[in-house]
Amino acid sequence: MNVELILLALAPVFVLCIGIEAWYWRRRRPGMYSLRDTVSNATLALMHQGADKLAWLLVVPFYGWLYDHYRVYTMPGGWAGFVLLFVVQDFLYYVFHRASHRVRWLWAAHVVHHSSERLNLSTAFRQSLMYPVAGMWLFWTPMALIGFTPVQIVGVVLLNLAFQFFVHTQAIPKLGWLEYVLSTPSIHRAHHARNPRYIDRNYAGVLVIWDRLFGSYVEESEDEPCEFGIVDPIHTHNPITLTFHEWRMMARDVVTVPGWRNKGMALFGPPEWRRAWLAAQPAATPSAVSSVAPGTGVGSMAGAEASRETR
Ligand SMILES: [Zn+2]
Ligand SMILES: [Zn+2]
Repeated sequence: MNVELILLALAPVFVLCIGIEAWYWRRRRPGMYSLRDTVSNATLALMHQGADKLAWLLVVPFYGWLYDHYRVYTMPGGWAGFVLLFVVQDFLYYVFHRASHRVRWLWAAHVVHHSSERLNLSTAFRQSLMYPVAGMWLFWTPMALIGFTPVQIVGVVLLNLAFQFFVHTQAIPKLGWLEYVLSTPSIHRAHHARNPRYIDRNYAGVLVIWDRLFGSYVEESEDEPCEFGIVDPIHTHNPITLTFHEWRMMARDVVTVPGWRNKGMALFGPPEWRRAWLAAQPAATPSAVSSVAPGTGVGSMAGAEASRETR
């Protein structure tokens, strides 16, 4: 089998699980699924798969070139090699995911995944076709350099994403000792929540040990139920608007803010940079600043403008 097609091959399993979850919630919480939200998520998944498939055409030969010419080691095969492959990639996923929340250029792609106010298994489908443009593939290049083949890299990246499908659910409670080892549904629910307590936490792909090691772990609390979505919601189901709104806002900022430093920050600063920049401007009107929700919202400034534009 072509390793790039792992997610497409698993699509029937994913769709079956979504069907079972929707049926489970049908009477318990009828608002858990909405047809428009689910169709939007599925459309975004297909767009993402198409873009990814195209990107691999370029990226796989690039990994091969790095592997052939610049690798410093050749990784062993067998189980030891697989465990190493899995752990290294999961760590790099943590780095990628954390950067995706703290660097606006990457957030512009990742915001799509967070922009729904629902959280169910179909939310896992909600991805951006702009990940290859943002440079997600760059984060896996160290694996080629330390001696993993392109097929190993692509395979483990997709397996990691396949695992993550199953943590997008509110149907499963905390899982005891597994909460110390794996990213569980409870841990990932907190990641999708916009309550200040949960923002920019729990970046884990499969292993939660990275969050616990690097201080980004937060436990889901019964006292503070998760409110899902971004701080300033985007009121649209249009996959094109969802995919490009942050890129459009970012491009506009780069053109309009003065000075190279500000332009650099508009691209690569934290997503909330623009709010701070606006607040620091003497000419900024109170309404322009106060219309943005307070707090350390993930991409909240951009979200605020987008929500105004799309209403
Ligand atoms: Zn995220
Ligand atoms: Zn997620």
